[in-house]
Amino acid sequence: MGARAPQRLPELGRDPNREYRLGIMGGTFDPIHYGHLVTAEQAREALDLDLVLFMPAGSPAFKDDSFVTSAEDRYAMTVLATAANADFIASRFEIDRAGTTYTVDTLRALRAHYPDNVHLYFVTGADAIHDIVSWHDAKHIATLATLIAATRPGYDINQSCQRVEESGIAFDVRYIEIPALAISSTNIRDRVAHGKSVRYLTSESVIGYIRKNGLYRDPVSRSQAEPGE
Ligand code: NAP
Repeated sequence: MGARAPQRLPELGRDPNREYRLGIMGGTFDPIHYGHLVTAEQAREALDLDLVLFMPAGSPAFKDDSFVTSAEDRYAMTVLATAANADFIASRFEIDRAGTTYTVDTLRALRAHYPDNVHLYFVTGADAIHDIVSWHDAKHIATLATLIAATRPGYDINQSCQRVEESGIAFDVRYIEIPALAISSTNIRDRVAHGKSVRYLTSESVIGYIRKNGLYRDPVSRSQAEPGE
């Protein structure tokens, strides 16, 4: 079999007389769950996004590869979870790129691909955004996209806002509270490892995939992974 052709990005920006808004859901998605899907849907609605690209990180920055489920498995679960929504597109854009996944590289490549009337909105967890000042080429990220930080109920955004402000970098960050983010990938992995039900935390298709492929059965390697997450 020959090499796989690179996945094409969805078309956007054709009408030069209007502005388009592209959401990019960045995450490890290990596994994807309803909290992520609700986040994307509410961001789409609140910001009038035309499309949301779900982009599992290939080799996430700051994570030890050995504790992250393979990119293909995380991508397959993302495809399954998003399949029924025409506005959500699972993207191989980051998993097909070799080396550590840096958000700035993704945004730079998307910026180069799309015309200027397509605005980029990078959506991820507020905990991740809290650390954005230390991300690779953070200054450049601020010029490429608006950031949407999804918070869990009870999350104190003040610390995060202060850190971003003190960086002196002009990030445009919008915070949205998502009650469904009480669900977490860590909790799902932990429940699977202990033989507990994960029904209604993520889609049946994702649960089936987890079972069929024996993911998250080993609690030892997973618990070692937590401090680095
Ligand atoms: P993480 O540290 O695993 O997640 C931080 C928190 O945010 C967790 O509570 C996580 O919950 C939540 N979260 C993650 N993605 C989310 C999403 N799309 N919507 C709502 N909540 C989300 O962060 P990560 O998943 O590794 O990274 C998040 C994104 O930031 C990825 O796109 C990654 O590539 C990028 N990032 C870039 C750099 C860099 O360029 N240097 C460094 C770090 C992260 P769950 O565990 O339930 O998802």
